[in-house]
Amino acid sequence: FKTPPVRRNASTSTSGNSLAWPHNLSKTNCLLTPGPAAAPRKERVVILGSGWAGYAAARTLSPSRFERVLISPRSHFVFTPLLASTSVGTLEFRAAIEPVRRLGLDEFHQARATSIDFKNKVIRVEANERGDVSAATRRPQINGEEFDVKYDKLIIAVGCYSQTFGIEGVREHANFLRDVGDARAIRLRILDAFETADLPTTSDEERRKLLHFAIVGGGPTGIEFAAELHDLIDEDLARMYPGILDFCTITVYDIAPKVLPMFDSKLAAYATEIFKRQGIRVKTEHHLTRIRRDGRTLMLRIKEEPEEVGAGIVVWSTGLMQNPLVQQLVETEIDGRGKLAKEPKTGGIVTNSNMQVQLRWPDGESNDATATLEDVYAIGDCISVQGSPYPATAQVASQQAVYLAKQLNRGMGNFSKPFSFRNWGVMTYLGGWRAIHQSKADSLKGWAAWMLWRTAYLTRSMSVRNKIMIPVYWLITWIFGRDISRF
Ligand code: FAD
Repeated sequence: FKTPPVRRNASTSTSGNSLAWPHNLSKTNCLLTPGPAAAPRKERVVILGSGWAGYAAARTLSPSRFERVLISPRSHFVFTPLLASTSVGTLEFRAAIEPVRRLGLDEFHQARATSIDFKNKVIRVEANERGDVSAATRRPQINGEEFDVKYDKLIIAVGCYSQTFGIEGVREHANFLRDVGDARAIRLRILDAFETADLPTTSDEERRKLLHFAIVGGGPTGIEFAAELHDLIDEDLARMYPGILDFCTITVYDIAPKVLPMFDSKLAAYATEIFKRQGIRVKTEHHLTRIRRDGRTLMLRIKEEPEEVGAGIVVWSTGLMQNPLVQQLVETEIDGRGKLAKEPKTGGIVTNSNMQVQLRWPDGESNDATATLEDVYAIGDCISVQGSPYPATAQVASQQAVYLAKQLNRGMGNFSKPFSFRNWGVMTYLGGWRAIHQSKADSLKGWAAWMLWRTAYLTRSMSVRNKIMIPVYWLITWIFGRDISRF
């Protein structure tokens, strides 16, 4: 048998043989002249989550300085701004994901952290052996082996879950759009609705219900999904199902008085006008109170409508709630030192401007941060930075991750400056090659904004592979149409 090769610690590579010296030197030599000093053990940084925050942190942390360990129930990173495009076949699913294992980390566990012992620096995890994540609830389907993972430093980046506000039937019947599994489910459901509506046995009344696509939430995600769906119907399905096209409707429901609240009123009005021209209905100040299944269709009870409204699919894109791990962590007493500080409105973990997790008084009555929990950091949607409420966006999450990883690379205790967010502005696609963009410096609408939208997402996509694949898929879609196969 051959002795397995010794894995050389990257930080010792310049000395060359520090791990091998006991084999190379005779016993006498050993006693007379000590070999090179053993390399210092690299600090072990464990990151929870492979989203915008966790993935960017793992990618930026120096492999020569740290042992990088990532734990996440999903084995990939999702480029969320492109999810709506994948859900209608404009882009293929793999163009919006990056496999975590390509990062070449020291360890990756496809698992979910279930509890953390901050005193002994140990995380309890449960393997996600089936590898999938529930589309509807975002609760990972995990019943795997449990084990412990030790850390020297911990980065919590577990994101948020979708909030359903306890509305009856939403969790069971609505489609969420947070991962590629969700996008695949939506694509299938749209195509199923068209095929069923086209059957000679389907009545006109049922066709009208099946081909009503309801979107709840008039933020950028809901609006972009409506726009992408309109493009799919207009550019591809209209030619294939000409006989049932008149039955198609898309409605965006929102409880607020206007959609896209983060845009100035002129741009939001432009978006509403474009939607009107495209035949997409925008119903603001409308409250969905129940969804129930009725045979092949869904029935929506909306407070402002006299009768229940039928729909083939309801896409839910409103509201965030804290990850159950975060909910549990902020309520756990830490070794007589108090609990993690919690933002009262969002329930998120409070950090200081160096992304260090803060503690609150042991009595738990006050939420005020009192001290820093050593070696524990948190970033992304699951946190609130003390004194600076940043929006829950990919921009914020990835910038916090890069900031934190660079500070750690520089050497601990030497945080040279606090985190500050560089706002690149907001963009939303409106369909028909039009978009809106707004930043501090300027605002754009129409085709120019659409060009900027596509360029921005292309340049921000993570790997060279996707930087090539995305424009290739855009070109294929433009020439040959979208993928509308049902499998
Ligand atoms: P997430 O990206 O949600 O990642 C959380 C990670 O933690 C996941 O990998 C999850 O599997 C993992 N995890 C969960 N529980 C555990 C656990 N117990 N243990 C270990 N791991 C766990 N933002 C923008 O700025 N611009 C946009 O255009 C934009 N478009 C969007 C479009 C869509 C469809 C969606 C859904 C969001 C969009 N966002 C956009 C928002 C953006 O995606 C989020 O703000 C961002 O994903 C937050 O990153 P995060 O890493 O904090 O959380």
